[in-house]
Amino acid sequence: MYIADYHTHSNCSIDGSSTMTEMARAAIDAGLDEICITDHVDTIIWNSTKRRGAHDWSQTIAQYRDACDALGDKIKIRLGAEFGETGIHPDLARENMASAPPLDFVIGSVHTAAARNDWADFYYIDSREEAHWYDVIDGYLDEVERLLQIGDFDVLGHLTLPLRYANEHKGMHLSFERFYDRADAIFRRLIETGRGIECNTNRGNTPLPDAPLLRRYRALGGEIITLGSDAHTTDQVGCCIRERQSLLRECGFTHFCTFEARRPIFHTIDI
Ligand SMILES: [Zn+2]
Ligand SMILES: [Zn+2]
Repeated sequence: MYIADYHTHSNCSIDGSSTMTEMARAAIDAGLDEICITDHVDTIIWNSTKRRGAHDWSQTIAQYRDACDALGDKIKIRLGAEFGETGIHPDLARENMASAPPLDFVIGSVHTAAARNDWADFYYIDSREEAHWYDVIDGYLDEVERLLQIGDFDVLGHLTLPLRYANEHKGMHLSFERFYDRADAIFRRLIETGRGIECNTNRGNTPLPDAPLLRRYRALGGEIITLGSDAHTTDQVGCCIRERQSLLRECGFTHFCTFEARRPIFHTIDI
């Protein structure tokens, strides 16, 4: 069984706490064959629409070199990035991509509602009102659709992310069901353009997206799929990757992907 965690954050992300070397060591300890570090590259200052300065890749480059020097003979370490909020300042996202070191893998992510909800970051939304959250999800999908048009990425990150904040953080019971048609349209567009999705294991909580949507993506012909824990600390590295590999099999997938130089490598699911 080949185990790869394709969504992890080092302390090159504001909300990460460990170096890439520490994350890679944790991956070895967790029995992983491969880890991809996908630190945030955002266009906005979080919880605002204020434009960030150009991304400084120097720490990423230095830490990646250190990690490969220290542990590259024990585990495959790939360099990725999670590009967030591309739709708010697309020119900055393009600039950051142009100045990036060679990347193996890029996740395209949306963490905010749309303009009509002030681009609110889900993390900071206080409401427990269902109607409000469904409106937020509706706007989130507008932003995902915009990302599909303008973003340079390999897989769409954590589709259904608002559910993490509404259900896990606020104890609500929202379902994505009323948005399945829109999700199908997003899947079709990803498939047509040679891109894929991730199954974010959500550090052991409900996967993003979960089984019904994974089945729909597969039924539409979706093949490109990665598995990532979204670990921000060493103890979360590899969390539930094995379990979600079996979930993928149950949902009709025969393979999952890793990436090298932005090209997918297919691995048989043999569990
Ligand atoms: Zn994210
Ligand atoms: Zn992330």
